[in-house]
Amino acid sequence: MDNCIFCKIANGAIPSKKVYEDGDMLAFHDIHPVAPVHFLIIPKLHVASLADCDSSHQALLGKLMVLAPQLAREQGLTDGFRIIVNTGRVGRQEVYHLHIHIMGGREPLPTMLRKD
Ligand code: AMP
Ligand code: ZN
Repeated sequence: MDNCIFCKIANGAIPSKKVYEDGDMLAFHDIHPVAPVHFLIIPKLHVASLADCDSSHQALLGKLMVLAPQLAREQGLTDGFRIIVNTGRVGRQEVYHLHIHIMGGREPLPTMLRKD
């Protein structure tokens, strides 16, 4: 995808603070972190959103999820972390290239959504 910022990060056209890379996946620090540790994992393949995934993406999603605890541990998140996958308009997704946020730090994160 020509005008996709995460495709450009995946192919090296835009620099990133890399956490991990293999043939299929790239992990890098979020440019606007909302927690002491906040990084993203993306597939190198352009998939716009989790809402676009089906059974043909099973292996890719499995690999993405299995990478999360491994990289979280490597980033020092040994006492838990949070994963968020913002999806579509209602999920307030900003970048339409599938990605998971991994967030954590020494202290517990704020509650996920406020329950009024
Ligand atoms: P969302 O699509 O809502 O999950 O948000 C996209 C996330 O990507 C935001 O947290 C941004 O801070 C992050 N982001 C956008 N551009 C970059 C970039 N060039 N490098 C690292 N993170 C980015
Ligand atoms: Zn893309």
